[in-house]
Amino acid sequence: MKYIYGPIKSRRLGLSLGLSLSTDKICDLDCIYCQWGSVGSTVSERKEYAKAFEIIAELKSWIKINPQEFKELKFVTLSGLGEPTLNTSIGEIIDQARAITGAKIAVITNSTLLGDPAVRKGIVKADLIVPSLDAVKEQIFKQIDRPNADIKLNEIIEGLIALRKEFRGKIWLEIMLVAGVNDDLQHIEELKKVIELINPDKIQLNSPVRRPAEKDISAVERSKLEKIREILGNKAEIV
Ligand code: SF4
Repeated sequence: MKYIYGPIKSRRLGLSLGLSLSTDKICDLDCIYCQWGSVGSTVSERKEYAKAFEIIAELKSWIKINPQEFKELKFVTLSGLGEPTLNTSIGEIIDQARAITGAKIAVITNSTLLGDPAVRKGIVKADLIVPSLDAVKEQIFKQIDRPNADIKLNEIIEGLIALRKEFRGKIWLEIMLVAGVNDDLQHIEELKKVIELINPDKIQLNSPVRRPAEKDISAVERSKLEKIREILGNKAEIV
């Protein structure tokens, strides 16, 4: 299978099937912690990197081959290799995946394109959106996420705020914390102010455990993660 991965059973989503909207890593960021490694280049142009009809055809074949797992499926999650909102067919894929499976749809996004109303229009059809925001300071953003030159931090933040207003489903904001890069408590206080404007349903704190793109990065110690969780308040959890 080229586009399907899993299914994976998780405490939060139940049985979830992953759909990648490209066959290679296509991303407008080059995060130092990326589990897919660094491809050394980024793209910011939106296009149909994988055809919607091919992805949906593969989903139909998976259902035929896996009738038992299909019965138990709770979510179809759009993420996979790179950034799913770079695929211009994301809205259509959400509609069709829901119609075929009857499952809920989740989108995992790096938030970079949320400033574009066309992107938001596509993904507000989902049931759950898990956007990420690792930094609110330009220098830290560039250090941790190494964005394409077309990607602007202020547009990401404005896009997240606009998404909250337009989207009726749940938003679980994810923050990937890397020791010595974005875990300074002053930066966390700044993040907190921005998060209050975004008003997500949950804040998920993560720290790299899988083999990251850059070898010399480290996870944040548990005691510091607890401290950060405390600062960010009731909605925050360590995942
Ligand atoms: S946004 Fe995701 S896929 Fe893209 S570089 Fe960062 S971690 Fe990797």
